Amino acid sequence: MRIVLLGPPGAGKGTQAKQLAKALGLPHISTGDILRQNVTEATDLGKEAKDYMNKGLLVPDELVTKMLSDRFVKPDVNGGFILDGYPRNINQAKVLDGILSGMKMKIDLVFDLDCSEPVIIQRLSGRLVCRKCGANFHKNNMPPKKEGVCDNCAGELYQRPDDNVETIKKRLLVYKDEVAGLIKYYQDQGLIQKIKADGQAEIVLKEMVALVSLVSKKNGSSKD
Ligand code: AMP
Repeated sequence: MRIVLLGPPGAGKGTQAKQLAKALGLPHISTGDILRQNVTEATDLGKEAKDYMNKGLLVPDELVTKMLSDRFVKPDVNGGFILDGYPRNINQAKVLDGILSGMKMKIDLVFDLDCSEPVIIQRLSGRLVCRKCGANFHKNNMPPKKEGVCDNCAGELYQRPDDNVETIKKRLLVYKDEVAGLIKYYQDQGLIQKIKADGQAEIVLKEMVALVSLVSKKNGSSKD
């Protein structure tokens, strides 16, 4: 299965994508994670992307497209993937279709995670991320056992520089600006499944797994 996750920042895309990838045994490809890794390693891409990311703006398409093409060369994508954070606009969706058609593949399913703005702001402004393993915690909803330390790998927890209220609002505006066209693009292909993502993560995941199973039955195979 080749699955795309759409949804505003804070809808739980990253968390759901990780869990869904685990449940289905597929690679999780997060363009945000790859970009943050490049920023941490101060690569040329990271240096170019950093300012856009800190301001809550999209990194220019040509940088992200190159990065995505490089990722799709790895053989683990051949059995399917969960794509999180890409595409962010129609141009990127068309680039993705181009990469996939070159590999004789297409997207099977697009989840549109729907979440209200107060829930998003509450989630993101308290989010803590592990520098080492990427696990997410929350200052109030899901605090780590020991302050500042990841429960899973003892890595250092930090607050993403773009998880402050002002930048969150900017990211939401950027998202709303681009998403309507993107949803229509995938709706016209009959690929969109809308999911209410305000509730508990486990319930959202169950719903997604059930839909994946339905779509794979409809498509006649769970892997292609
Ligand atoms: P995310 O982790 O998906 O919330 O992404 C964090 C930031 O990385 C975004 O606010 C953008 O600056 C950048 N980013 C991630 N994915 C993309 C993309 N597909 N196109 C452009 N910028 C992106």
